[in-house]
This record gives sequence, C-alpha cells and structure tokens, in this order.
Amino acid sequence: METILVSACLRGVPCRFDGRHKASPEFEEAVAGREVVSFCPEVAGGLTTPRRPAELVGGDGHDVLDGTARVVEDTGRDVTEAFVAGAQRALEAARRGGCTEALLMPRSPSCGRGVVYDGSFAGELVPGDGVTAALLERNGVTVRPAPGV
Ligand code: SF4
Repeated sequence: METILVSACLRGVPCRFDGRHKASPEFEEAVAGREVVSFCPEVAGGLTTPRRPAELVGGDGHDVLDGTARVVEDTGRDVTEAFVAGAQRALEAARRGGCTEALLMPRSPSCGRGVVYDGSFAGELVPGDGVTAALLERNGVTVRPAPGV
C-alpha cells in the first residue's frame, strides 16, 4: 500500500504554534485508503508548543536551505536552525516510511507548498515553499498542499 507523509496537525495532533490542530473531513477523505506517516517538523526541530508564530524572511524555504533567508518569530527571535533541523528529520521520516508523496499544511513556513506568508506578519501571501516542503521536493518527494484548510 502507498505510504504518504502528512503534517501531524492535519491528523488532529495539537502541535500548531497556537496549540491547536487542523483536522478536517476533507483531509481524511484525501488520505483514505493510504498508509500515513504523521510528522511535525517544528516539534521535531526542538520547538515547544505553543510557540510564537514564525515566518520566512528574505525568501522562501529553498532560500533558507541555501543560507540566503531566515525563519524569524514575531518577537524577532531567529529560529532558522530549528526549522532546518526539523526539515531534515521530516526527510528521514519520509525515507524510513518509503514515502514518495507528502500532503502538507498550506501556507506554513515549514509545510507550505506553493504559497507562504511573506514575513511581514500581516497575513500577506507570496509564492514559495516552506523549509520542509523545499527539502522534501529537493530529495524527490512530491509535495502537495492539503485540501480543506
Ligand atoms: Fe503542522 Fe507542519 Fe506546523 Fe507542525 S510544522 S504544526 S505539522 S504545519
């Protein structure tokens, strides 16, 4: 059976920065019939829950991996290292599970695919990938944003 990597918050784990989850019937329908590996890169990278919101500053997740952008909390604290460590652990989890696909939480600075917040903490979106989505894509895992959120 095909195994897919998913954002843990989409499966009901309360690991979001605000201590909530994002489970939805649409997401469960999207993964029905597939083995699922649930993973939260930010928790795996050592961040606590709840935590301050963070956004990508100076570029997207690919730029973070290339060392030309950062991940910063709304307090100004730089959490780039934790985000990169979490992305590496997510890639390890995908490899362990034999996942060639991932269905991840939209807009997140870790899990977002295609669109992320712009670093202004004003709710503005720009094209780009989160750090984990970028690392997975670079290593042959096809990442799609989850429906229903
Ligand atoms: Fe969900 Fe991903 Fe954020 Fe963890 S890092 S709370 S899995 S969106």
